[in-house]
Formats: sequence, structure tokens, C-alpha cells
Amino acid sequence: MTNVRDKLLATASKTAVPESTNYSVHSRDSDDQNQQPQRCYLGLGGNLTNELGTPSEHIHQAVATLQARDDISHVRLSSLYASKPMGPQDQPDFINAVVEIETSLPPLALLAVCQQLEQDAQRVRLRRWGERSLDVDLLLYGDQQISLPTLTVPHAGIRERNFVLVPLAELNPSLVIHGSAIADYAASQDWSGLTQLT
Ligand code: ADP
Ligand code: MG
Repeated sequence: MTNVRDKLLATASKTAVPESTNYSVHSRDSDDQNQQPQRCYLGLGGNLTNELGTPSEHIHQAVATLQARDDISHVRLSSLYASKPMGPQDQPDFINAVVEIETSLPPLALLAVCQQLEQDAQRVRLRRWGERSLDVDLLLYGDQQISLPTLTVPHAGIRERNFVLVPLAELNPSLVIHGSAIADYAASQDWSGLTQLT
């Protein structure tokens, strides 16, 4: 953990953030087709073992599924982290990771891929912020800001969650989110409850 933290603290406040970060605003109902590949980040997490595997195995299986797709390339997985549950405390600790991909899939199609990965891990919705085999969230889609009934990007919780910020910063310390450097967000997080596993 110290390694990642030290690197982040070294990067924090040194990352040049452009005066204005120009998000392109995407708020149409339908997706664009045939667009340029975008670099995207998916947050993966789970805390239930089922007959398909442990939470870590669900994450690795999801990454293998992403790698096997023709419309997704440059798949890169962060370290895995153990984290304390965000909601109800009477559930197992979570395993979290972030995966970087490049894809020409439009945002809603990519969200559908995320939801399919959850289905593949036999996710069952029990309670809000409750236990699950695998949750897959679309964290960032290029530099786009997306506001649709079923999709908010950057993901709504991105700035508050150390289990998202830390692996994101590990993959790409020069990311800028809502105008601020990821390293700054990550460095100012409470790191208690987060353990780097691999
Ligand atoms: P949570 O991730 O907060 O535990 P769910 O995985 O059950 O909750 O997602 C609930 C809904 O969040 C989904 O049906 C989806 O339409 C919506 N949603 C909005 N923005 C995003 C996003 N960036 N990534 C994933 N789901 C999103
Ligand atoms: Mg989700």
C-alpha cells in the first residue's frame, strides 16, 4: 500500500491541469455509431462467492471476457484491493479493481457490456450497497460528460470512493476528473479500510 500511496503523494499537485477541462457534453438519447476508439475505465467490485468463483475470480473472469471481445482492446487491470463495505456493515469485505480499455462501443452499448458481465457472474440484487458477486460500473468514457436517464459519466460516486480513485490513479496518474487531477483526489482520501492485494 505504501508504494502506491507514496507514488500518488509524489504526483499530487504536480500534475498539470489545464485551465479549463473541456468535457464534451453528451446528452442524447441514442448512442453515436462508428466513432473513434475511446479510452474508458470500468470499476469492478464484489464480495460474494458463488458456484462460479470468489470475488477475485469474478473480476479476472470479467477481464478475460473483455479481452476476448473484438470491439475492446488495450485491456489493463489495476491491482486488486480489499475494501470495507460502503453500506451495510454486516457483509463481507469487498474486492475492487479498475480496468482500462479502449473501445469504439458507444457509451450505452458499453454500459450494456458492463451489465452483461454482472449477469455472467450471476449477480443478484439484494439490497442497496449490499452484497454482490460482481458490480461493474462505467467510471470514465474518454473525456466525455454523459447525463442520460440510465447513465451518468463520470460515475456519480467517483470522487468519494477510495476503492475507485486509488486503482484509477494507479493505472493513470495523469487523469483529470471534473477539472482536478486524480492524484490529488486519491492523495486526500482516507486510506483506512483499503488494502492493496496484488
Ligand atoms: P451500484 O453500482 O450503485 O451498486 P447498480 O449497479 O445496481 O448500483 O446500478 C444501478 C443503475 O445505475 C444501473 O441500472 C445503471 O443504469 C445506473 N448507472 C448510472 N450511471 C452508471 C454508470 N456510470 N455505470 C454503471 N451504472 C450506472
Ligand atoms: Mg453498479
